[in-house]
Amino acid sequence: MSSEKGNVARRRPQRHQNARAFKNDKYDTSARLKKINAKLHDGVCQHCKGILEWRVKFSKYKLLSKPKKW
Ligand SMILES: [Zn+2]
Repeated sequence: MSSEKGNVARRRPQRHQNARAFKNDKYDTSARLKKINAKLHDGVCQHCKGILEWRVKFSKYKLLSKPKKW
């Protein structure tokens, strides 16, 4: 398998590359998505913030169905 241990040197270039970067608002132009895109992730550490921003960018972010109670 190509992912076998030790087999890390890529011998050929990536065959297909997206001509355009993925855009999460290309098809989904809903108010929900706009809200998600505008959301600021505060109250979390840098690491978690990076994860949340990644999730938003690739449309993998889901709003909490119930707001978290403190
Ligand atoms: Zn964290």
